[in-house]
Amino acid sequence: MFMVKMVHKNPKTRGRRAELRTFLLWGWIRIQDKIQRGSVEWVACEAHERVHWDQYKRSYGFHPVMYKFSKKYRLEAELEAYAAEYKSYGTHSSQRMTRYKLAIMNDYGLGDFTNGPDVLKELWKRVGEG
Ligand SMILES: [Zn+2]
Repeated sequence: MFMVKMVHKNPKTRGRRAELRTFLLWGWIRIQDKIQRGSVEWVACEAHERVHWDQYKRSYGFHPVMYKFSKKYRLEAELEAYAAEYKSYGTHSSQRMTRYKLAIMNDYGLGDFTNGPDVLKELWKRVGEG
């Protein structure tokens, strides 16, 4: 059976390790480590990973390849995912948003491809507060 396994892990952020397994027409998400199942953090993390699953479907399965090789694509993918994660909480928090900005800048091999003010601006725009 055709199967793609995407392990979406963020090695620098402890407790943020999610695994997205994809079978041909459906997928499931496994969130590991330090996040209590059913907690608001869990639900938010799930919202984040679900976006990656949508990206996978939208790209007809090319998501993992583009994600790996294109920084521009990877940045877009994470902006969308973190925006969904933020919205899942349903509360305003500039602190949380700043954490996401730092994660996007530092934990995805984007190096100097990103700059803080732009990432933050894009995130706020995507959650409809910008
Ligand atoms: Zn992500």
